[in-house]
Amino acid sequence: MTNDKGVHNFKDLDSELCTFCGTCVGVCSQNSLIAKDEKIYLVGKCKSCELCYNACPGREVAFSKLNAHLFESSQRGRYIGVYKSIYVAYSRDIKIRNNASSGGVVTSLLIFLLDKGLIDGAIVVCMKDEEPWNYEVKIARTKTEILKASQSKYSLVPLNAILSKIREEEGNFALVGLPCHIHGIRKLQMIGWEHSDKIKYLIGLFCGFNMHLSATNYLINKLGVEKGDIVSLQYRGGNYPGGFLIKTKKGNEKFLEKFYYNLLNLMYVPKRCLLCADLMDELADISVGDAWIKGIDKNGWSTVIVRTEKGQSLFNGAVNHNYLGYKKISREDLLKSHSHLIRYKKRSIFVRLNLSKIKPIYDLAAPNMRIREYISGFLFFCLVKILSDDYVKKVICILPLNLLGMMAYLAKYIKGRGGIE
Ligand SMILES: Cc1cc2nc3c(=O)[nH]c(=O)nc-3n(C[C@H](O)[C@H](O)[C@H](O)COP(=O)(O)OP(=O)(O)OC[C@H]3O[C@@H](n4cnc5c(N)ncnc54)[C@H](O)[C@@H]3O)c2cc1C
Ligand code: SF4
Ligand code: SF4
Ligand code: SF4
Repeated sequence: MTNDKGVHNFKDLDSELCTFCGTCVGVCSQNSLIAKDEKIYLVGKCKSCELCYNACPGREVAFSKLNAHLFESSQRGRYIGVYKSIYVAYSRDIKIRNNASSGGVVTSLLIFLLDKGLIDGAIVVCMKDEEPWNYEVKIARTKTEILKASQSKYSLVPLNAILSKIREEEGNFALVGLPCHIHGIRKLQMIGWEHSDKIKYLIGLFCGFNMHLSATNYLINKLGVEKGDIVSLQYRGGNYPGGFLIKTKKGNEKFLEKFYYNLLNLMYVPKRCLLCADLMDELADISVGDAWIKGIDKNGWSTVIVRTEKGQSLFNGAVNHNYLGYKKISREDLLKSHSHLIRYKKRSIFVRLNLSKIKPIYDLAAPNMRIREYISGFLFFCLVKILSDDYVKKVICILPLNLLGMMAYLAKYIKGRGGIE
């Protein structure tokens, strides 16, 4: 708790606001914090250094302050953050492209950085060899290790706990992270944490939603697979845009379209994710998401937002050395292609913040909202409360897949109501 001198420590952080980003674990010089079962525990001595409290992105993200500190660019979109240029792009290595979540851009950027000696390692998430249904965070130092990490893992990952290893390392690193991971690193850079300079490149992923790990267990059960039989598990397996794909030891493949995540992410949404105000990873050097743009071919493409000078020279380098193919797109194209998640994360977020008892500190002003938009935001909030209730979940879990599919369609419809002004 706050001690007599008014100093904050880990106990002042509200666990209900935790994004499970791992930043506190990674920076604690006493190694007194651990991340387990989607919670953080204090297991050792605390010297009240305030670092975990000040760096925690679950508690506070001061977007305006961080933007002013980070970006020289003058172009700023209310829904997309500061940017220099916007593209859709893909990896020129067909194997990388086919095995990735969208266009394989993230994997190719990391391999480019490694090939050119610009980094010594990349902080990534891959599935464990011995438990293919579970993730692990790694410092990838070879092309093979980077390739192994490709694909999105729809799960909370305490990525920044790896900073405890970075503290012991010399060298330059890239980090790929969701907005909450990148917020943690940027806050550390702003505070001037002594090791934060080692993270030279921040590659951000868009994040429209996330799910507790129990959603993965639910899907494994629903597909009738024993964990011991799993050889590989992918959240974006198969042809683009892919879906939940399990391969078993007997050579069977079990598949559920990505579409089902629309329902699951309401049932298994972490509380803090409902209050998250960053869709397009606004503080990264380069942010990468899916490309739902009309008129591009059916192979995977990624949307790329370049935000910093460093991000621009990385993107240009990867293009000039033939790692990436690309097309420039307009800001309007980007807004159109992600409109339903923009409504959800950048507009109706303010309804949820109003309704929520606990809330993070943001320095953001709510947009003018029409009454219709407010009502649909309220209905959505109620729907999540109902669907995430343990008893309701038990009932839904026994429903047949085609009925779940219809509910997933309805969930997507309700989530996207609102309207960009
Ligand atoms: C939880 C989650 C939600 C997302 N929501 C959206 C969305 O709503 N809209 C949208 O357009 N895009 C979303 N994305 C991003 C999208 O799924 C792709 O990750 C992105 O388009 C990059 O694709 P790629 O083919 O270039 O990446 P790849 O080449 O496949 O590389 C993926 C990289 O992501 C990293 N990674 C995977 N999972 C995680 C994780 N959980 N935490 C941190 N790092 C991870 C891996 O280390 C790997 O380096 C989401 C991603 C995640 C993980
Ligand atoms: S949000 Fe991140 S830094 Fe804050 S308590 Fe949770 S894991 Fe730690
Ligand atoms: S020592 Fe510092 S970083 Fe570690 S738990 Fe205490 S306040 Fe947090
Ligand atoms: S929704 Fe926000 S808080 Fe949740 S995982 Fe994504 S970036 Fe982190």
